[in-house]
Amino acid sequence: MHDCIFCKIAKGEIKSEIVDESNNFLAFYDINPKTAGHTLIIPKKHFVTLLDIPSNLGEELLSFTKHISGFLLEKKFGDGFNILMNNLPPAGQVVMHAHIHILPRKESDNVEPVD
Ligand code: 5GP
Ligand code: ZN
Repeated sequence: MHDCIFCKIAKGEIKSEIVDESNNFLAFYDINPKTAGHTLIIPKKHFVTLLDIPSNLGEELLSFTKHISGFLLEKKFGDGFNILMNNLPPAGQVVMHAHIHILPRKESDNVEPVD
């Protein structure tokens, strides 16, 4: 049985604070933010890692990621941002549905994005 929390978020079966969506991707705020405005971008379909996301979605993923990053800066969550992706458990992936983290950053916020 397929039991994936991010699939449920994508289908609206579990509540999340949605930032925006494109045809194939959804952005929502992380439930346990590392910085203010910490946002996750997921494909609406279930893929496990970056390697599973079809390359023909690459342009949409890049432009959507840029759109959300720009929105977070506009909203003054940060004056800069990190983009990171944990792929598979040795790299820290806990939720096995591919997702990109956007971490808005402020000067001297003392956040270590990769730990
Ligand atoms: P990972 O370590 O897999 O890259 O990160 C998973 C992220 O998903 C974590 O930052 C965690 O806080 C977030 N997360 C896990 N479950 C939920 C949830 O139900 N809702 C939201 N909005 N974020 C979640
Ligand atoms: Zn899923």
